[in-house]
Amino acid sequence: MIELIDVYKVYKVGLHEVTALRGINLKIEDGEFVIVMGPSGSGKSTLLYLMGCLDKPTRGEVLIDGLNTSQLNDKQLTELRRDKIGFIFQQYYLIPTLTALENVELPMVFKGIPKVERVKRAKELLSLVGLGDKLNRKPNELSGGEQQRVAIARALANGPSILLCDEPTGNLDTKSGRVVMDIIKRLNDERGVTVVLATHDPSLKVYADRVITIRDGAIC
Ligand code: ADP
Ligand code: ADP
Repeated sequence: MIELIDVYKVYKVGLHEVTALRGINLKIEDGEFVIVMGPSGSGKSTLLYLMGCLDKPTRGEVLIDGLNTSQLNDKQLTELRRDKIGFIFQQYYLIPTLTALENVELPMVFKGIPKVERVKRAKELLSLVGLGDKLNRKPNELSGGEQQRVAIARALANGPSILLCDEPTGNLDTKSGRVVMDIIKRLNDERGVTVVLATHDPSLKVYADRVITIRDGAIC
């Protein structure tokens, strides 16, 4: 479960302050598929960053499975992120010199999983996203939709229970976007992965159990 209690996020930019989130209260149950809708600049990315412990709130609490993240040190936060949370962004952030298989192996390298097990699991995950026949392609030999599917497989490498997706179809045409959304939905349905997905595209609402609308940093 993910719980945000009266969360504020203020960015300092030189002498200015930008309040990106103002008093967010939100509870997301295990296995939910939640879409966060809102225009550009409304605070969606900031919300996902805080849920993913990539950044800390200025005020308020973020709880992951009952753990209050403000009470964890950096090492504990890194472990929590690595073991429980997968991220997918609009950009794919694949390593261009590595193959699809090696990109998916990478989070398991950091976790210290032995090579044989890494390769086996990376192959399974790439098959799951429909890329079992493209294991040895480099990112520039794959379409945008395929690169995002590699990024999904990589996000799943360490078996996260939560998948945070920030505009995952933002750079894709309608058809590849649908393939990516169908994969995310299937992970939610069949594996019970909790999904929180930020988008400004209203056509994606059909995938969600619940749609949250955010405007100027507040839920409305
Ligand atoms: P969205 O994802 O809905 O586009 P963001 O969370 O990216 O919204 O941004 C919310 C607000 O916070 C915007 O005004 C944005 O300019 C500001 N913001 C986001 N990240 C930073 C940052 N690192 N430093 C300063 N301001 C930021
Ligand atoms: P998608 O349906 O994911 O948008 P495309 O129609 O763009 O796929 O691509 C069709 C096929 O062409 C894919 O199997 C992909 O592997 C291959 N392909 C796409 N872009 C490139 C590229 N830059 N180099 C090599 N192969 C590519």
